[in-house]
Amino acid sequence: MPEVKDSEVVLKVEHLKKYFPMGKHAVLKAVDDVSFEMKRGETLGIVGESGCGKTTCGRTVIGLYDKTDGTVLYKGKDVHAMKGNERKAFTKEVQMIFQDPYASLDPRLKVNQIVGEGMRIHKMYSSNAEIQDRVFELLDQVGLNREHASRYVHEFSGGQRQRIGIARALALDPEFILCDEPISALDVSIQAQIINLLIRLQQERGLTYLFIAHDLSMVKHISDRVGVMYLGTMVEMTTSEELYTNPAHPYTKALLSAIPIPDPKVEHERQRIMLSGDVPSPINPAPGCRFKGRCPYASAKCSQETPVLHEIAPKHYVACHLY
Ligand code: SF4
Repeated sequence: MPEVKDSEVVLKVEHLKKYFPMGKHAVLKAVDDVSFEMKRGETLGIVGESGCGKTTCGRTVIGLYDKTDGTVLYKGKDVHAMKGNERKAFTKEVQMIFQDPYASLDPRLKVNQIVGEGMRIHKMYSSNAEIQDRVFELLDQVGLNREHASRYVHEFSGGQRQRIGIARALALDPEFILCDEPISALDVSIQAQIINLLIRLQQERGLTYLFIAHDLSMVKHISDRVGVMYLGTMVEMTTSEELYTNPAHPYTKALLSAIPIPDPKVEHERQRIMLSGDVPSPINPAPGCRFKGRCPYASAKCSQETPVLHEIAPKHYVACHLY
């Protein structure tokens, strides 16, 4: 398992599985034996195509979904066994920012109510005036202002809505935030603004982010480490810098080759690796490497043996028989 040795481990995921029964003999293996650790204050990006299991993985990690097998420890405590006050403290400390801010914000409520709701539920302040002041403060921190507090969600742009979603998540003074594709629905220019905001808030508050994304372009700017998922499994995990300079897994190389490069000359010479074959179904996957049907290097061994994530260089883990 990719280990974090230098600092305090805040999250430890071991052999996590999340399966969905799909009928009598069919099982959708959305997350299949995924392990990783995170230390306090870091950002781990998880990247993969639609349907690779990254969102299910994130949601199972924070206990929104029951697990099928494995363990998730948050500060040493089993997330799926928490009850009572322990559970309540966890739901305050661990927050989520959603992909589609419009769908995740109640259109019948004013921003004031949306951002203040969690503080009321958790009885964080004794008066409405204190909550109001805190809402103003939070809006200011995310680049909005107090006039916005009395408006409804439909009055805002996509980027502003995501700022409201971030303010709502921050309202409970969280330590850990699952960012579930928080920029995918936004224009490219707005994406950079939201990423910069998240980085600044992390520096100010020491937040830990599990950042889910469908491509590698923006993840680079925010992540300390990146994990690449393919059909429910983690195929590569390393530091952000190492992944972008020395990608090892054939799937990671293909994902990286798809990122446009801002320099027109370099972009003109960019060699895009086109993946052959279809994305196989995660329902009852065949034995062996799940990428074999699309991999230009697949051999007989790839159909027989499932590659296991192992360290090929310091802090660089890959699941591929080529290494
Ligand atoms: Fe390709 Fe085989 Fe490596 Fe899978 S294990 S990525 S099929 S070379």
